[in-house]
Amino acid sequence: MGISRIFGGGVHPVEAGKGKDSTKSNGIIDLTPPAKVTIPMSMHAGAPATVCVQVGQEVKLGQVIGEAKGAISAPVHASVSGKVVAVGKCMLPSGREADAVTIENDFKDEWDPSVEASALTGNVSAEQIIEAARSKGIVGMGGAGFPTAVKLDTSKLDPKPDVLVVNGSECEPYLTSDHRIMVECADRVAEGIVLALKATGCQKAFVGIEDNKPDAVEAMKKAAQGRFEVVALPARYPQGFEKMLIYSLTGRKVPNGALPSAAGCVVLNVGTCEALCRAVREGRPLIDRVVTVAGHVNKPGNFRIRIGATALDLEDAAEGFGEGVTKIIVGGGMMGNAIPSINLPVTKNFGGLVTLAEEGHVPEESACIRCGRCVRACPMKLMPTRIDAYARHRDWAGAVAAGAKNCMECGCCTYVCPAKRQLTQSIRMAKALARIKKL
Ligand code: SF4
Ligand code: SF4
Repeated sequence: MGISRIFGGGVHPVEAGKGKDSTKSNGIIDLTPPAKVTIPMSMHAGAPATVCVQVGQEVKLGQVIGEAKGAISAPVHASVSGKVVAVGKCMLPSGREADAVTIENDFKDEWDPSVEASALTGNVSAEQIIEAARSKGIVGMGGAGFPTAVKLDTSKLDPKPDVLVVNGSECEPYLTSDHRIMVECADRVAEGIVLALKATGCQKAFVGIEDNKPDAVEAMKKAAQGRFEVVALPARYPQGFEKMLIYSLTGRKVPNGALPSAAGCVVLNVGTCEALCRAVREGRPLIDRVVTVAGHVNKPGNFRIRIGATALDLEDAAEGFGEGVTKIIVGGGMMGNAIPSINLPVTKNFGGLVTLAEEGHVPEESACIRCGRCVRACPMKLMPTRIDAYARHRDWAGAVAAGAKNCMECGCCTYVCPAKRQLTQSIRMAKALARIKKL
């Protein structure tokens, strides 16, 4: 274990110039909180939180404004102190609608007393760590937003996972926020890893970092102090996907349709580990996150921004977009969502804001030339061209039989296709329709 293995398939998207180079050396800038924040109740996998404040109510920084509902959920906290001015709906970057609370900032940043009171020093139990992750609303910062407390609580799993896999690979083009967190906050990330080891009962932890981030590898090795292993992995998209990362670090394979626990692993992102450390040691809820703003912007960078600020605040931080932007993406260049409006809230799992100019044009498709590149690029060993053919004939059962449900929507097939066929989009549609039709 702990050696880097090469998974099959994958691609190496452009890195230089318009990719990671424009922000990888830019230190994290703490942004002044905006005058108003609109905080959605659904920023995590599972049931949305329920609003527990009213219009006109004064709230403190870090106060609970949305209570978790159900076994898989997460509470939501005020990211500024001030007055609740609206309780209504907002649109999420995913295009879905969610309940939301709007707070007018009084710029006092007065912490709720529960924050200091819940900070824990010294030895802590697994139960205390899991409770901190739960009550402080910690969710996966890498994109999926799965509630961290649920991942950490391995008590009902049989057999129990024995390896904690920490994702520092950040394989998406343009994004460097995890990179900067590892360089600048290595000690907090390391403390979060040690706490996660205790909470899960895992015996070992591996941190996988792509070898295009040597400064992050060095910083994490220094912070590890023999408590976990840091492994430099070849830079190859989608190295940061759970299945690929688990295989690269442990040689274990997660069966199709199964969770990492089926391979004896728990997977956490480095940003999540940093947030877990702060939840336990400072009593600090998840009220902000680091976001990379890159692509066709005037001043690309990494910004720590309050949850509920808008993408427009990020545009201002980057001193505006360049001329001729054709696409604005939340997330990375491969997996991100194109958004219709810049006035959408920054959520807990808002990984990046990437703008594209000429690369944002969707090229015209031509007929498949049967070159097989999409098949060779697919890390799940699927035949994307075949699933696509079923999807275009609206044969959803055929698409499922050809393995559509195992597609991770990584985008590698679309990226390599010389005929510019929109394979991932077509397979995504087949998956969605199959779900609706319960196939
Ligand atoms: S998007 Fe799906 S089909 Fe295409 S390469 Fe990725 S996993 Fe394979
Ligand atoms: S890469 Fe494109 S052209 Fe080549 S086989 Fe796949 S779908 Fe056809």
